[in-house]
Amino acid sequence: MSDSTTEQSVAESDVCIVGAGPAGLTAGVFTARADLDTVVLSAGESILRRNAHLENFPGFPAGVNARQLLEMMEDQADRNGCERRDARVDSVSRDGESLTVRTTADTTIETESLICTSWADTGYLDGIDALEMHDRGNKTYIETEDNGSTPVDGLYAAGRITGSPHQAVVAAGDGARVGLTVIQDSDVPFYHDWVAPEGYFTDRGREIPPGCEEIDDKERRQREHKAQEVMQSYFSDSHPEEPTQHPSVVDN
Ligand SMILES: Cc1cc2nc3c(=O)[nH]c(=O)nc-3n(C[C@H](O)[C@H](O)[C@H](O)COP(=O)(O)OP(=O)(O)OC[C@H]3O[C@@H](n4cnc5c(N)ncnc54)[C@H](O)[C@@H]3O)c2cc1C
Repeated sequence: MSDSTTEQSVAESDVCIVGAGPAGLTAGVFTARADLDTVVLSAGESILRRNAHLENFPGFPAGVNARQLLEMMEDQADRNGCERRDARVDSVSRDGESLTVRTTADTTIETESLICTSWADTGYLDGIDALEMHDRGNKTYIETEDNGSTPVDGLYAAGRITGSPHQAVVAAGDGARVGLTVIQDSDVPFYHDWVAPEGYFTDRGREIPPGCEEIDDKERRQREHKAQEVMQSYFSDSHPEEPTQHPSVVDN
């Protein structure tokens, strides 16, 4: 994609994701790994930053600091090729084949596919009449098919904004599922995003399917060693940030 961080710039992407919580960051890992140019826009905090200690996210038997986990998810999105930007999305419109995403900083992104994961904010979608929404309490949810698609071509939604259960792992899984829908709706040849040991396909006379990779023992050990280093660096100290308190508690 043509990258620019200056104001009033115009960029193009295959996939634009609004929101960098568990849903948006996980969707981005999948679309970027499938070689779709992916930009992730975030207007600030994931609601997960309010958590005190996250005890039901798989892979962390004694729980994990939620701000630490978000930082690791951001790092994972970066390592897999996402471009992340701090930006509040202001409006979306359909212009011909693509969707136009405008931010409050006057940046415009023309994108083939848009994934909305901006829990608690749907205001920027007001100009998209075909989209179906429903209100519950003071929140607005986007109606989607099970695979995250909407009646608007190229527009998808994932995570809590679709009304799925208010749990981090559900939002992450939903992001993965919707990212995979976007890949399947694109021109990218894709089977599964798998890393398999050398010979897993080829020793059975099969081609390595698109999206899959075979790695030999040396490469596997190198990757494991790197992963150990990265994880040790994350957990060598306590995370410095406090949970974000609910605004009404802060105001008291
Ligand atoms: C106090 C508290 C404790 C919790 N504890 C747990 C727990 O123990 N276990 C658990 O499973 N879940 C917990 N949750 C719930 C969990 O945090 C959410 O279900 C999960 O974060 C939802 O993920 P999401 O990606 O859908 O939305 P979020 O994580 O909220 O991400 C939304 C993203 O959209 C961005 N955004 C919004 N509007 C715009 C815009 N206009 N432009 C650009 N970006 C925008 C935001 O900045 C953010 O990056 C807790 C929640 C709270 C409040």
